[in-house]
Amino acid sequence: MRPPLSILLIDDDAGHRELISRALLADGRPLCIDAVANCSDALAALSTERFDLVLTDFNLDDGEADTLLCFIRKHRLGCPTVVISGSDEQDIVVRSMRSGSFDFLHKNDAIDPAKLWRRLDAVIGQHRGMQCERRKMERRVRRLEQLATRDPLTGLSNRRAVESILTGNGRRTLDRRGEVVLAMLDIDHFKRINDTFGHQCGDRVLRTIARLMKRMAKRNDIVARWGGEEILVCRLNSNLAAGICWAEEIRAAIEKLKLPWDDQLVPVTVSIGVHAEPCHDSIQSALSHADHALYYAKQRGRNRVRTSRHALFADLIGRVTTGEPQRRFDALLDEAREQLGPTQREHLTEHSRRVSELVSHVAAVLGLNDDLREHLRLAGRLHDIGKFCVPENVLNKSSTLHETERKLLNRHAADGGEMAEIMGVERTIAGFVRRHHDRFDAPSSGNDPRPVDRTEALGGHVIHVADALVTMTSERSYKATRSLPEALAELRQESGRQFSPDVVDAAIRVADRRSTSPATCTVTD
Ligand code: GH3
Ligand code: MG
Ligand code: MG
Repeated sequence: MRPPLSILLIDDDAGHRELISRALLADGRPLCIDAVANCSDALAALSTERFDLVLTDFNLDDGEADTLLCFIRKHRLGCPTVVISGSDEQDIVVRSMRSGSFDFLHKNDAIDPAKLWRRLDAVIGQHRGMQCERRKMERRVRRLEQLATRDPLTGLSNRRAVESILTGNGRRTLDRRGEVVLAMLDIDHFKRINDTFGHQCGDRVLRTIARLMKRMAKRNDIVARWGGEEILVCRLNSNLAAGICWAEEIRAAIEKLKLPWDDQLVPVTVSIGVHAEPCHDSIQSALSHADHALYYAKQRGRNRVRTSRHALFADLIGRVTTGEPQRRFDALLDEAREQLGPTQREHLTEHSRRVSELVSHVAAVLGLNDDLREHLRLAGRLHDIGKFCVPENVLNKSSTLHETERKLLNRHAADGGEMAEIMGVERTIAGFVRRHHDRFDAPSSGNDPRPVDRTEALGGHVIHVADALVTMTSERSYKATRSLPEALAELRQESGRQFSPDVVDAAIRVADRRSTSPATCTVTD
């Protein structure tokens, strides 16, 4: 059963209100009539209640019916209005209809139940028909909007939709706090998947990856099919550390996917380029940085996540192509001066020089041959090169690092190994850099999955101990400086656990020698 029809009746003449109300009720259908005498009471009622129909006198004490009609239109109240007047003046009729009245009734007709309801039923029917048409039209517009903004294969937003959101032309308002993180994903060797298993299988791979990414995304992330087999994720109010962690999770989840096709499993991996920057109006440069990072991840062998900082490092090193590795490193630091914060610079210069020097002395005490000592000296100098890709605000943070920031910081050894490699140094040197944070009691504790080579492991342990000793005795934003005896006590305590016992003994001997002959070694000035 339909609920009672709710009618707002406005007339400044109490007698007319009574007569029209009676005519309305005479029909016997369930009604809810709210009768008021003036414009202001009518506006108050319209502001607080929903009506199915408004019947109003044209001339009211405090205004005219067109004020009400304007209000109804402006606030999209959607209720049909019928103007009732004692006058048939053409001017009133025209004005009423122009202001949006559905019909015009003379008062004589309005008090005759049969005539009144014949006209009102026509108005109600016409209004319902219009509402129905409007809803259909809205559904059609929504569908067209979807077709224009969605990718039919994956159901993700398409490139056009994302561009319009990111350039601020979409309906959505961008959260401009923090940084915008862009992760550009591309399926590895997708052409091979199509060629081997067929296009339908390729389509299924795309749909599966899209679904997985949507599931792993946060509610406000924008996930879009950017190109053929490229998917872009845009996360607002975030940071690089969170972006890399998320991209790594996606990469690992896709690598683990078991996708059966024709009794075989389809091997699928992806490469992801990540870029973060403050959210400006123009997103074009951010997009090209993410693209650049993706290209670099492909170059490095695919199935990996790289950032625009990694790609920038590769570009810079490409510009300083000649000379000894040590010279190239110094030239690189010079070339990159605009891109380095003070803490990054300190780690890559003063700190690394001290570590390099200490490493040489420890290597000598360990009796390593000249070649190894020279390799270790250079590796000591390069050991923190991976911090080029750790944002300054993570390196100089004085409070506890967030888990994602700690993971990002921990990448610097593996990243550094790769960066040393692209600098063209000997593989052993790059290996030392890669292993310089590996624990002695857990040789594969670093985030490099390759099997551990014994020489690389030893070199890593030497740098690890020297790095720790120099760091403990230097000023750092996140901890108090320790005296040399305190730092040596810490090395002893961790000997056999975090640090190699042989290397700890050698470092202690170097430090002892230094205390008797300061010229021999500089742990810290
Ligand atoms: P890379 O690892 O360098 O990215 O190699 P790739 O083979 O993935 O890249 P390439 O650009 O050579 O090939 C991309 C392929 O993706 C070619 C194209 O036919 C295929 N592709 C693009 N869109 C679709 C699609 O909607 N469905 C299917 N099945 N294949 C698609
Ligand atoms: Mg591809
Ligand atoms: Mg380090």
